Parts: sequence; structure tokens; C-alpha cells
Amino acid sequence: MLPQPVLEQAQREMLNWQGTGMSVMEMSHRGAEFMSIAARAEEDLRDIMGIPPNYKVLFLQGGASSQFAMVPMNLLRGKCTADYVETGDWSSKAIQEAKKYCNVNVVTSTKISRYTSVPAFTSWNCNPNAAYLHYAPNETIRGVEFPFVPEIGEVPLVADMSSGILSRPVNVNQFGLIYAGAQKNIGPAGLVVVIVRDDLLGNTASGTPALYDYQVLADHHSMYNTPPTYAWYLSGLVFQWIKQQGGVASLATANVRKARKLYATIDASQGFYQNPVDPQYRSRMNVPFMLADRRHENLFLAEALEAGLTNLKGHRFLGGMRASIYNAMPEAGVDALVSFMQGFIQRHG
Ligand SMILES: *Cc1c(COP(=O)(O)O)cnc(C)c1O
Repeated sequence: MLPQPVLEQAQREMLNWQGTGMSVMEMSHRGAEFMSIAARAEEDLRDIMGIPPNYKVLFLQGGASSQFAMVPMNLLRGKCTADYVETGDWSSKAIQEAKKYCNVNVVTSTKISRYTSVPAFTSWNCNPNAAYLHYAPNETIRGVEFPFVPEIGEVPLVADMSSGILSRPVNVNQFGLIYAGAQKNIGPAGLVVVIVRDDLLGNTASGTPALYDYQVLADHHSMYNTPPTYAWYLSGLVFQWIKQQGGVASLATANVRKARKLYATIDASQGFYQNPVDPQYRSRMNVPFMLADRRHENLFLAEALEAGLTNLKGHRFLGGMRASIYNAMPEAGVDALVSFMQGFIQRHG
């Protein structure tokens, strides 16, 4: 979901942005109007995340998946090994891509237990000479979330925060690089936001296309070529909305409450609904669940749709159901799902 006030503002401004007679989609990306939109979005993101001045913020195209390749292209810096944590389908995909560029040292993997937990940090097999360590703090598909940030000393920490960014406060200083596809918690699909510490730039592998070189992109303020202007603008409106909500910390409080309600409903259903993730590592953003009687799942989805509850089908890798309760999902939406789930048990349990 996107916040309703953001969509309404975009609607009001669609044909005529602030009296200019232009839609944002019609602006030159180098004109004063769009430059002001772009700068404000970056400022607001820096503000709500507390991004220090020695980090660059890039607004790029290609989605989060583009970073599966761009990270090794840019951050290996002459090294040939990188550490990767495998806790779900997305980190697994990042590993597959990184293998094209370097030796991947998988420091820990939960693949064999179907990605239902996060191994204790002390058990990870980290390489102190790795170029960086990559992980996905929230695994979107199976709903596994890290309750801690790994402390790996000098090795730069790289996080695919696509589905968790802005859902809870983070200390950016703990990371060498953060990236996030916009479509979960930021804005429209296609945009990816990259936050990178500036000392990691400028050592890109030779042969890397200019368009994939963080240094080139940073030097051009993400305008080496035409950026996804409308997605950038809408993301900026979402950042303003987050400020109006009292910032990331107050969203985090609401997110904890929303997630608790759903897991409590699942756990109180005496096995009617099931979520296999170790409770310590359950995601606040993505709540997958199955029915004990899987034949009822299509019925569940059909009745949910009738009740106005959409987008509950689980990821195609996994089936079942998944409630994605990103920042813009109001608590009332979670309450509606909870009462539907309880009613469904009464009708079919
Ligand atoms: C959605 C998602 C991606 C993929 O994003 P695209 O924009 O489709 O490339 C990658 N990582 C995580 C954690 C995601 O949730």
C-alpha cells in the first residue's frame, strides 16, 4: 500500500504541479522544478533515517535486483571473496548473482530448514578478509527478520533492506551500504534507493558500465542518465508523510502492534493457521501463513476478496497466504483481517 494522503496529493498535483502548469512527469529532470523535488526527497530521507554526511544517497532504476550485481561490481575493490548470509529466497538470489563476480563464502545458511530462522551470529563462519558481508535483514517471502544487526568489525556490512527500510530505526553508521527496492515501503516499483559510505566508492571493477558505477552515479547526483522522476517524486511524498506520522520510531511502534495482532491470531487458532518461523525471527512486515487443511486456501482467498481483503495470496514459491503489513497499512486493515480470520475458523473450522 501507499499512504492514501500521498496518493491524494499526487492526484491533486497530477496535471499542474504547484502552479507550474506541468505534471511532474512532464518536467525536465534538470529543470529547477524537478531539481527541487529531488533535493527535498533526499533531504527528507537523510532526516528520517539520520543518514550521516559521509554517505551518498542514490535514486536509481533497476529495482533491488540490480544491486545483486552492482554490489560486487563496486564493492569488491580488488578482493575476490565476499561473505553472504543465506536466510531466504532473496539473499539466495543475491548469492547466485554474486557468484558471477567473486568467490562467495556463505557464512551461514538456513536453506536446509526451509528458511525459518536466523542462526546465532556466533556460529557464522565469517572471513575477516572478505570485501564485505551481505545479508537481507527482512526476508520478504517467508517472513524472517533479523532482530539484531551483525557486528562484523572492519568488513563493510551490506544490507538488502527492500522490505524493512523505514519500518524501524536503524543506525546507518553500522552499514557500508544499504539498498532498498522502493515498492515495499518507499514508493512505486522500479526505483531503488542506495545509501553508501563514500570511502567505499571509486574502486569499481574495470569493465563496469558507467550506469552501474556508484562513483559515476554519485558524481552526477543520480542523473548520469534520466532518472525515474515520477517514482522519485512519489517517494519524496512518502518521506514527508513519514515525518507527519512522527518519524520512523512511531511507525515502528505501530508496526510491532500490527504484527503482534496477526501472530497472536495465528497462534491462538490451535493449528488452524500455521506460521513455521521461529517466533524470535518473525517478520514485522510480512506475515505468511498456511491453513492446516490446505484445500481450504482457495476458499480463504475467495472469501477474503469478497470481504475487501486483497493481495493475500502467498508468494508463488511458497503458496498459502501472506499479509504484507508495510508502513502504509493502517492498523484498522490488520484488525479487519484478524476478524475475518476468526470468522473463517467459525465457518469452516
Ligand atoms: C522485493 C525484493 C527484492 C526484489 O526487488 P525488485 O525491485 O523486484 O528487483 C529484493 N530483495 C528483497 C528483500 C525484496 O523484498
